[in-house]
Amino acid sequence: MKCKRCKAPAVVALPSHNTGFCPDCFDLFFTRQVERGIHSEKLFTHEDRILIALSGGKDSLACALVLKRLGYNVTGLHIDLSIPNSSQAARGTVESFCSENGIPLIVKEMAQEGLAIPDVKKRLNRPICSACGKIKRYYFNKTALDENFTVLATGHNLDDEIARLFSNVLRWDVGYLSDQGPLLEADSGFARKVKPLFRLSEYETANWSYLQGIPYHYAPCPYSQGASFTSYKKLWADLEEEMPGRKLAFYLGFLERGKAPFVRQEAVTGDTLAPCTSCGYPTSAEVCGVCRIRDAVAQQD
Ligand SMILES: [Zn+2]
Ligand SMILES: [Zn+2]
Repeated sequence: MKCKRCKAPAVVALPSHNTGFCPDCFDLFFTRQVERGIHSEKLFTHEDRILIALSGGKDSLACALVLKRLGYNVTGLHIDLSIPNSSQAARGTVESFCSENGIPLIVKEMAQEGLAIPDVKKRLNRPICSACGKIKRYYFNKTALDENFTVLATGHNLDDEIARLFSNVLRWDVGYLSDQGPLLEADSGFARKVKPLFRLSEYETANWSYLQGIPYHYAPCPYSQGASFTSYKKLWADLEEEMPGRKLAFYLGFLERGKAPFVRQEAVTGDTLAPCTSCGYPTSAEVCGVCRIRDAVAQQD
């Protein structure tokens, strides 16, 4: 196959766009898809101070690198979960990536916050993943607000978004459907949240990361059974093969025509949030979930 743009040998085939590209033209394609997403959904501008959550995985690193190259004001945030034999490697990947690319980095150590994940795991009688996710989201949000960032970005790609959307549709979860999308506006106690890679698939992001020489750090969490939404992603991969382009069309269609009724319904029936009496984070309970976890860990031994 030849590159659609310059006729050099293509290295990346893109059935969903009915085309293929050489490395340079693929870089251009990828970058333009990100820009198009930022502009069409008005995610942020060059005036914004963007904090980007960096786990050490390729998606978040790719997101940081493309935004940096586009001239945006980005700072990385890494949550060190303090898991032996795992967190150190992830943190090392993020630290060297940021120093090589001139991206400032903030690291939050969960051990110092009384929330080392092994201690949380010991204390909980339910799977750790949802608590760990809650703790990470809490510190992403808190750091963005405390340090006066105007936008909080994550590296979620189209496959992540489609799988989540599909899961929410299967449950007709009004609360989640009303909030889903590449942009969640700031609300009292919540930072503005964006997902700049929402137009790009996992495959496209992985190829771009590889071609840019982004370190491939594959270290699955020792506590997790594997990636979330695996079965939905598989189902959508089959569908996409039968109908190239359906994933992006389904997602954009939801944003354009599907989401509004859920937003209206949530405004009527949704939980009202009030500040946590302990930390001020918005919660539907008196004390937020993370403060309750921290208290439980402190009572240990
Ligand atoms: Zn080309
Ligand atoms: Zn709290």
